[in-house]
Amino acid sequence: MFSVRNDMLRRRELVFLLLCQACFALWPDVERLRTSARKARPMRLRSDRQGTSDLFLPRHVIPTHYDILLRPVFDEALGFPVQGRVVIDVECREAATNTTLHAADMTIEDYVIRDASGIPLEVVDVETDGPHQFLIFHLGETLEVGSTYEIDLAFSYPIRRDRVGFHLVSYTESGMEKYLGVTLFQPSFARLTFPCFDEPSLKARYDVTIGRDEDWTAFTNMPLKETLPDDDGTFLDVFETSLPMSTYTVCFAVTQFSSLTTDTPSPFGVHARPDAIENGAFMLQNAPSIQLTLEEVFKTEEPMPKMDLLALPQSGAGAMEHWGLVTFREDFLLVDVDAEDFTRVFEVNAVTSHELAHNFFGNLVTLQWWDLIWLNEGFASFGEYVGMRGPNPDWDVWQIFVWDSYQPTLMDDSLESTHPLVMDVFSMNDFWPLLDIAYGKGASLLNMIFGVLSEEFIIFDGIASYIGESSFGNVVEEDLWRNLQAAVEGTDVDLGGRTIAEIMTGWTRQAGYPLVTAIRDYDTGGIRVQQERFLSDPEADPDPTLWIVPVTFYTPEGGQRLYWLAEGDGTLTTQPMPGLEEFLFVNVEASGFYRVNYDLRNWELLATELERDPNQFPIQNRAEFLDDAFTFVASGHLPSYEVPLSLTRFLRSEPKFLPWVTAATHLEYLHRMFVSTERRALFQAYALSLLEPRFAETPFEMLEQFPEVYGDILDWYYNYIIQSFTCAMESSACVQQASELFQLWKSAYDPQDPDRTILSPNAKSLVYLYGIYGGDDSDWEFGYQHYQLTGSESDKNSMLLALASYTGSASLTRLLDDILSPTSPIRDQDALQAFLYLGANIAGRQLAFDFLRDNWDAFKARFQEVSAVVAAFQDFNTPADLDALTALRDEHPQDADAFAATVAAVRGNIAWMDQHFDFIVDWLNASIQ
Ligand SMILES: [Zn+2]
Repeated sequence: MFSVRNDMLRRRELVFLLLCQACFALWPDVERLRTSARKARPMRLRSDRQGTSDLFLPRHVIPTHYDILLRPVFDEALGFPVQGRVVIDVECREAATNTTLHAADMTIEDYVIRDASGIPLEVVDVETDGPHQFLIFHLGETLEVGSTYEIDLAFSYPIRRDRVGFHLVSYTESGMEKYLGVTLFQPSFARLTFPCFDEPSLKARYDVTIGRDEDWTAFTNMPLKETLPDDDGTFLDVFETSLPMSTYTVCFAVTQFSSLTTDTPSPFGVHARPDAIENGAFMLQNAPSIQLTLEEVFKTEEPMPKMDLLALPQSGAGAMEHWGLVTFREDFLLVDVDAEDFTRVFEVNAVTSHELAHNFFGNLVTLQWWDLIWLNEGFASFGEYVGMRGPNPDWDVWQIFVWDSYQPTLMDDSLESTHPLVMDVFSMNDFWPLLDIAYGKGASLLNMIFGVLSEEFIIFDGIASYIGESSFGNVVEEDLWRNLQAAVEGTDVDLGGRTIAEIMTGWTRQAGYPLVTAIRDYDTGGIRVQQERFLSDPEADPDPTLWIVPVTFYTPEGGQRLYWLAEGDGTLTTQPMPGLEEFLFVNVEASGFYRVNYDLRNWELLATELERDPNQFPIQNRAEFLDDAFTFVASGHLPSYEVPLSLTRFLRSEPKFLPWVTAATHLEYLHRMFVSTERRALFQAYALSLLEPRFAETPFEMLEQFPEVYGDILDWYYNYIIQSFTCAMESSACVQQASELFQLWKSAYDPQDPDRTILSPNAKSLVYLYGIYGGDDSDWEFGYQHYQLTGSESDKNSMLLALASYTGSASLTRLLDDILSPTSPIRDQDALQAFLYLGANIAGRQLAFDFLRDNWDAFKARFQEVSAVVAAFQDFNTPADLDALTALRDEHPQDADAFAATVAAVRGNIAWMDQHFDFIVDWLNASIQ
C-alpha cells in the first residue's frame, strides 16, 4: 500500500544528494570568447568554457598579498553595480616580460603595474585569453628574478544573478523585498569577482575593505578592524590581514542580517534574516564544541581568529567552507528544535561539522589541484562524524555513516560507468564529474585505513603530522601516505610487508572496488578467498582489476585476524580452524570498502547464528550481511532470495537502526512488487512477524515526546523506522495509534493558528499519513484544508503524501482534477510530486493511469517533462500493465521517448516477477507456518 521508504527516509535521501554536492551546485552560463576588447580601455572580460589542457597560470610571478576594495550598490534602478580595486603584490621567480592572472566577466577600468619603488612599468599590450580566462599584461621591460611588483587594477561589473562569484540573493521580510550580496568561489569563480591568481596552490594574504550603507553589515574571512566614513555618506569596513589562503576560500558578504554571537570558548557568530535568527541559537551553541572536538582529535589548533556562520535564504551550494565565514543554505544551519523533527536536528549538526572539518582539510591544508578533491571532501565527510560527537557524545553517528555514505557509495561505485577517485582535471569540465564519489568513497577509504591501523592514536598522530607539515600549504596524496607510514613505523601494525602508498594507490587510482568471496572446504577446514571487481550489472564483462585488500575476518574460536589479499585468490589461516558448525565472516565492522560473498553453507551458518544472538556480530556487519546478500541477487552472485530472506529472521531481535533501515531499503522493492498481487497479505504478514516484537516496545508515544535532549538520536531513527515500517505493513494496531493522534490533533486544531504545536514534530508525518489512511473522507478533507493553511514547508510535503496515499476514490479523483488545474489549491511545484505519490498508491494507481490517458494533452500542457509524469507507473509489473502502457505510448507516437525509461523498468519488473515471485511466495509460506 505505502512505500516503506517513507517520507522521512526520502528527506534524508534528499539530504544525502545535497551533501554530495555540498560545496558546488552550479556551473555558470558560459559565453563565447570575445577578443575584440584587446587593447581597448576599459576592457570588458567575458567568461568562456575552459576547454583546453593548458589550464595553469605561468609561475614566473606569484602573488603574496592582495589589497581588495569592493563597493557594491544595492540599487535595482542602477543595476546593482559593483566597483572594485585590487592591488596584488607579486614576486618574480623567473625573468619574463608579462604578468598573467585570471579575470572574467568584468570591465577593467584602469591598470598600472609598478616596481618595488612605485615606478610604473610600461605596458605595451594587454591581452585577454578567453578560454583560460587569462588577463595578460605585456611589458616593455623584463621582470627581475627576486624583485617584487604591484599589479593595481580598478574594475567593475553588475552583481551576478547566477549564484556564483559575487551574486545577489533576494528574499522577502515583512512583505518587503530585501537583498544581500555574497560570494561563492569554489572551484574557479573568484576570478569573476576580482582579478586574481585563481588556483588553489597560489596562496596569499588578504587585506579587505568593503563599502556599505548605514544599517548594513559587511563580512569577510577575518574580523573587522575599523569602520571609516566614506565621502558619500556610506561607510568603509576595513578588516584584519588574513592568514595565507587559497582564492576559493575567500568570501565577502554584505547583508542586513541579525546576529547571534559568542566568545566562549572562541568567537563564533550565526547571522541570518531577522525573522529567522532565533533558529540559529541551536548551532551557535553546538558549533564551538564541534570545533573543539575536531581540534582535539586532529591535534591541531584552528588558526582563524573567528568563525562566522552565514545562513543564506538561497545558495548555489548546500554549504561552503569559506575560511572564517562559512556560508549555508539556511535550512542547513537553522533549526527550530521545538517544531522540526530529529532528522533536521541531525542534519544541521552534520552539515556544520562537515564545513568546520574543512577548516583543517581544505582551508589550512589544501589540495594541490582539483584532481585531488577527495582529499578535501573525503576528510570533511569523515570528519563530519568525528566533530558531531563533540556536542552530542551519546550519538552513535557511525550508523548514519554506513547508511548515508558507505552503502550508497558501494552502490554508485559498482556501475560499469564509475571512474577512479582521482582523474586528471585538464579543464573545469573535468572537475564536476569527480564529485559523485569524492565524498562517500573518500570517507570510506579513510575509514578503511582506520580499520586497519586500528590503534586510533597511531592514525591520528599520522593525520596530525600531515596537517602540521603542510599547514598554509598544499598537498598531494603522497603527503598523506608518507605521514601515515611514519606513524606506523616501529609499531606492530601489519601492512603485509607493503607501504600504505603501495596499498592505497590501487584504491584511489582504479575504478570500482572488489568483491571478496570466501569459500570454505568443510572436509579439510580450508578457507579460500578470491577477489574480482564487483559490478552490479549481471551482464557486465568481467574486469581483471585487482586491489591490495585488507581481508579482516572473524571466527568464534580464532577471533579477529587480518589477511592481505593482493592476488586473485589466497588462503585464510587461523587457529583453531572454524568447526563445521561454526561461522566465519569477513570485513569486520564493514571497515573495508568491498563486498563479501560466501559459500551457501556459511551463509546458512551466519543466518542461524544471527537469529540465535545478533549481538555476536558488530552492528555494521548485521547491516552489511543484508546489504550484500540482497545486492548479490540482483547482480547474479546469489541464485535466489533464499539467503537474504533467511538473514532477515534475526530482525525480530534487532534493536538498532542500521540493520533495520538496510533491510527496509531492500525489502521496499519486494513490497512494491507484491502489493499489487493477491499475495500482498502474505508478504505483510511475514514483515509484521519481524516487526511486531519491536513495535510492542516502541509505541507511538515515544515519537510523541518532545525531547529536551535527544540522548542517542539513533534511538529516534530506530523508533521511526519501526513505526513507519509497521504502519506501512498495514498493522491495524499501528494505524489505530496514528488515527488516535490524528483525531486529537484535529480536535485541538485552530484554523486561525494552523501551525500551533499540538503534535510532536517527530510524529507529525506518520500521524498525517496513517491518520488519513485509517480515517474517512472527512479526515481527508481536513488534511487538505491544513495543506492549504499551513505555512510550514515540511507540513505541506507530509500532507501531500498523506492525501495521495488515501484509499477513497472520490477524494483521489478530486486530487487528480486539482493536480491538473493550475488554479487549484495544489501548488504548481507540488503537482508532479502529488501525481507520483498517487502512482505509488496501489488504490490510486489505476485511477491515475486512466486519468492520464484521458487527459494526455492537458498533462503535456501542464508539465514540461512528460517522461516524469509517466514515471508514476514504474511499479507496473504484469504483461497487462505493459500492454496498457505501450498502448498509451502508441497513441502518442510523438511522445514515445517519454515512455522509454518507464517501459524498461516495467519490463525489468516483469522479468523479476517471473524469476523470483513464486520462490518468495513459497519461502514466505514456509516461514510463516
Ligand atoms: Zn565539503
